[in-house]
Amino acid sequence: MQIVIRPIGWHSYESEYFTTSIVSPLIQRLSKIFGDKLRINSDSLQSSSLQSSSSSSTTTTMPPTHLFDKARKQWISDSLLDWLLKSNEPDITTKVLAICDFDAYSDELNFVFGEAHLGGRVAAIYLPRLRDEFYVRKSDKNNNLFEQRVIKEAVHELGHTFGLRHCQISKCVMLFSNSLQDTDFKDDKFCKRCNKILAGIL
Ligand SMILES: [Zn+2]
Ligand SMILES: [Zn+2]
Repeated sequence: MQIVIRPIGWHSYESEYFTTSIVSPLIQRLSKIFGDKLRINSDSLQSSSLQSSSSSSTTTTMPPTHLFDKARKQWISDSLLDWLLKSNEPDITTKVLAICDFDAYSDELNFVFGEAHLGGRVAAIYLPRLRDEFYVRKSDKNNNLFEQRVIKEAVHELGHTFGLRHCQISKCVMLFSNSLQDTDFKDDKFCKRCNKILAGIL
């Protein structure tokens, strides 16, 4: 089984930030949580296969614009997941995790921190609302909280791709987060019960 991390909605000049502040800590933690049954690969911003062929000098990893809701100024999460699946064609042993630097919504939810196909092959997390700055709060100086939130949302959505549903156990990473407080409250790990289900799949 492998996880492929894809940068979506990033500019090439953000490459260093993406690698050192987002992907490196995430890979480290994912390896600990999922153990050695999972291989984790990541695309760097420069070599991303999802780059649009733009004539400008700064390349981006923007998805097609019809996945953007102009009135709401948000991306449409479920359409984005479908696009991820189509454009990546992951095989049965692969989960694609998109790290999106833009806001998105889904059906009746005003916004989502992330979304995944339950028991499927694609997951996405959306970073803007995980940053204190989004809420005009003073940002956490050492970036620790943001890093933790990215990890928790990534583990949560990957959990969905392995078939895990929301869990009522306090602190379990599969607890549904409706706010940053919820995300900050829970752990980045699965509870005993979720871990057991996961062990049967991995
Ligand atoms: Zn969920
Ligand atoms: Zn659980």
